[in-house]
Amino acid sequence: MSNDVRLRSELPAWPTYGDEEREALIRALDQGQWWRIGGGEVDAFEAEFAAAHGSEHALAVTNGTHALELALEVLGVGSGTEVIVPAFTFISSSQAAQRLGAVAVPVDVDPDTYCIDPSAVEAAIGPKTRAIMPVHMAGQMCDMDALDKLSADSGVPLIQDAAHAHGARWRGKRVGELGSVAAFSFQNGKLMTAGEGGAVLFPDAEMYEKGFVRHSCGRPRTDRGYFHRTSGSNFRLNEFSASVLRAQLTRLEDQITTREQRWPVLNRLLAEIPGVVPQSRDDRGDRNPHYMAMFRVPGITEERRAKVVDVLIERGVPTFVAFRAVYRTDAFWEAAAPDLTVDELARRCPHSEALTRDCIWLHHRVLLGSEAQMHEVAAVVADVLADA
Ligand SMILES: *Cc1c(COP(=O)(O)O)cnc(C)c1O
Repeated sequence: MSNDVRLRSELPAWPTYGDEEREALIRALDQGQWWRIGGGEVDAFEAEFAAAHGSEHALAVTNGTHALELALEVLGVGSGTEVIVPAFTFISSSQAAQRLGAVAVPVDVDPDTYCIDPSAVEAAIGPKTRAIMPVHMAGQMCDMDALDKLSADSGVPLIQDAAHAHGARWRGKRVGELGSVAAFSFQNGKLMTAGEGGAVLFPDAEMYEKGFVRHSCGRPRTDRGYFHRTSGSNFRLNEFSASVLRAQLTRLEDQITTREQRWPVLNRLLAEIPGVVPQSRDDRGDRNPHYMAMFRVPGITEERRAKVVDVLIERGVPTFVAFRAVYRTDAFWEAAAPDLTVDELARRCPHSEALTRDCIWLHHRVLLGSEAQMHEVAAVVADVLADA
């Protein structure tokens, strides 16, 4: 850190917003009806978000965690069932399954793409498996060819955790064209946001209807007699959030194009830094929205990594330590978990173990910066790591 290299100019702020969001909020306000039952913003957002992802059935919900819970519930996940999840992910992937009383079964990820390893999934499928949940890590689509085949052969449905994958494509197909349920998040840091929010894409109208009823306390859309048909909860998105998300959706494609241009530049520069190994790309994921720029520093200690992250933030680079393997949290063991110890799970998930220690990620607003800023960011990372 001797050179004290820091960013010379500020990176773009996140969230991005402007008159489109301002006007949308006023439009929602002036409807005089602020929930979806009386307003038009949630309905319009669902239609627009579905169309953008090659689907006909999007259901807007309160947040991404609820999107996963609702999607899993529609797939029949509950107590006595198991859901296969990647060990290396944000906790909501496993927590959503556990919240329904199911056992979350963590399996290992690929050490290069950080996406769920299909051979590990195959080994974990058993008679109680009710869903397989690939997480498209940082916008890199999982190997959907291999996972589709596993799903077809076993009869176990896929549910895509697409919290990082707004606008992503796999061999030209959009998330909603892949034939499985998909759940999105619109939390403040995600690729489009209303502070909080979520959505589920369903492959058919029947599943959408099941989801709709459950997300509205088990009550059909036109019910006036309090005939609650199924169990459920209130996961309804409000009109203000939907109005903002409609504006955010109009920015998504251009922002992806910018990040698709910046990421190869930054990744090449990061790869030149001694000790740094950036996330690999599987080109079959041929549109990658780049939710983060991730890299590993193999052999770094957790303590030193924490220090590196702190210094990078001080130098103007928004940086985070990556996720902890889900079974390395107290939360995981408070709910239904496999009949294994932490050490046994760790032995089965060596790559997730390594990522828990050595992986770092940069916020996607880095990738909205100028090409010159990619060089600046890499120079800061190189300087901080050289000293540390
Ligand atoms: C953000 C995230 C979620 C949860 O979304 P929230 O809207 O924060 O509830 C789920 N899965 C993954 C992989 C995420 O990164």
